[in-house]
Amino acid sequence: MVKFLSDLENCTLCEWRCGVDRLNRELGVCRVGKPKVASAMLHPAPPESYTIFLAGCNFKCLNCQNWSIAHFPDSEKQIRGFIEPKVLGKEAYEAVNSPKGISMGADRIFFSGGSPTPSLPYIEEVVKEARKIGEIKVNYDTNGFLTLDSLKRVIGFTNSITFDIKAYHDIVHRALTGAPVGPVLRNAKYVAEKAQEKLWEFRVLLIPGISEGEIKPLAEFFSEIDSSLPLNFLAFRPNFVMSDYMGASQELMKRAVNIARETGLEKASFSGLTDIPGKIPEVKLDDYAERAEFAEDIARKMGCVTHPRNCGECPLKNSCPIKNYNPDKNENI
Ligand code: SF4
Ligand code: SF4
Repeated sequence: MVKFLSDLENCTLCEWRCGVDRLNRELGVCRVGKPKVASAMLHPAPPESYTIFLAGCNFKCLNCQNWSIAHFPDSEKQIRGFIEPKVLGKEAYEAVNSPKGISMGADRIFFSGGSPTPSLPYIEEVVKEARKIGEIKVNYDTNGFLTLDSLKRVIGFTNSITFDIKAYHDIVHRALTGAPVGPVLRNAKYVAEKAQEKLWEFRVLLIPGISEGEIKPLAEFFSEIDSSLPLNFLAFRPNFVMSDYMGASQELMKRAVNIARETGLEKASFSGLTDIPGKIPEVKLDDYAERAEFAEDIARKMGCVTHPRNCGECPLKNSCPIKNYNPDKNENI
């Protein structure tokens, strides 16, 4: 066994705290064994970087944008597999410092997924190897569902953190992701209060109808901590289980920014393609509980069996109908 992977023998890297031995064929909620790289490339989205997509995820989001990576090992996607940290560290360092990387303005390695957290010890090793060659910045992209110990490790080796939050209310967060929101909000507060210098931005995906009741409470949550925290609303792009739903309108995105500014947040913004046509929810959704139920219903129709969704205590966690769904074929894998 490689020493840097010893955490995987009793895995408690994220808040599911599965305690499984991932090096001996036991699988937790993420179903990731040894860390594997899905793909890696220079990426122009800020912060410009060499982005490494790690296979697998500890969430099962209805709207997953990277489902073929996130749902590894159940998806059919071709992935690169395990790459020795020394090899990947060198590859990333050289790509950032290549003529193409320099002209793009790339200055860091960006770890994304899926979720990078099931691969945290591997990532630390890749960073160590890259930094043996020379100075290089690192960004960690998180869904916030890591233990406080893991978060402190992340803060220790990163220069920037991009922090996604799907909802403020627990029932909405569970409906969208299958996971509780408590640890996510705890970690967001920790980063905002103890490591703000590492924060690139908080990101909140806005799904028409479902997320609209999350804008104000999330903005208030942040503005009460510090009115200078950067908050970016991302426009929902129809995807995965929700691929026939409508995208977020420009009106919704501008309204979200205004609501956030009214709570005192100085750095509220939005990004992403807006007004993608699709199905409009037929029911009128008046409050966040109705919106959560609407999302739960989408999961229920896909065969999800716990309501409110709870992937950590689900009898189907190793044969999940949502994780096995393939939108390209409109069928379970
Ligand atoms: S879901 Fe989290 S705690 Fe469970 S095995 Fe995966 S990374 Fe470890
Ligand atoms: S069926 Fe179980 S594992 Fe799959 S999304 Fe629903 S709660 Fe999570």
